[in-house]
Amino acid sequence: MCHTCLVPGAAPPLSNHARAVPSHHVSRRVVLQTLVIGASALCIGQVAHAKPVKLPAPGPRDACPVCGMFVAPYPYWVATVLWRDGKAVHFDGAKDFFKYLQDLKKYEPGRAMTEIHAMGVTDYYATGRIDAAAAFYVIGSDVLGPMGHELVPHDSEAEAKEFMVDHSGKRVLRFREVTQAMLMGLDGGKF
Ligand SMILES: [Zn+2]
Repeated sequence: MCHTCLVPGAAPPLSNHARAVPSHHVSRRVVLQTLVIGASALCIGQVAHAKPVKLPAPGPRDACPVCGMFVAPYPYWVATVLWRDGKAVHFDGAKDFFKYLQDLKKYEPGRAMTEIHAMGVTDYYATGRIDAAAAFYVIGSDVLGPMGHELVPHDSEAEAKEFMVDHSGKRVLRFREVTQAMLMGLDGGKF
């Protein structure tokens, strides 16, 4: 259970702490985007990458089903599940996205993982949503999301490792390695 936002609609304003991205990262993002374009042009595709996914954006009234916070104020953390019937569910971070997926019985009675059309998490550096199932998640870093300790998503292992060095991350995880116990540990600052 989230502790800071039990009341739907009680989303606190975006704080510097929550965003916590020093200005040099902005320029790094621009550099990375340029590199990505360059790499695509050269058809360098050997390295596994989580590809960008096209998903609806959260509206101003869309709240995270796990913690109740509005999602739109946190564009750099948004995660989305798009169901086959068109229903889109948005989260204010990968952690709550995983909590939802791991307890569909509670959050989506009657629905199953096989009915999901697409899932995206926001790439930390590129800031677009990428395929959640193929992303690389860093835990234990000094970068906090709206709900505290997070799984910080990256589209490649190389970027995840670089982020880990820059932000004192502890581990890189793939989608299938995330467990409920791990998510509870994150809430308590244990990695
Ligand atoms: Zn949430």
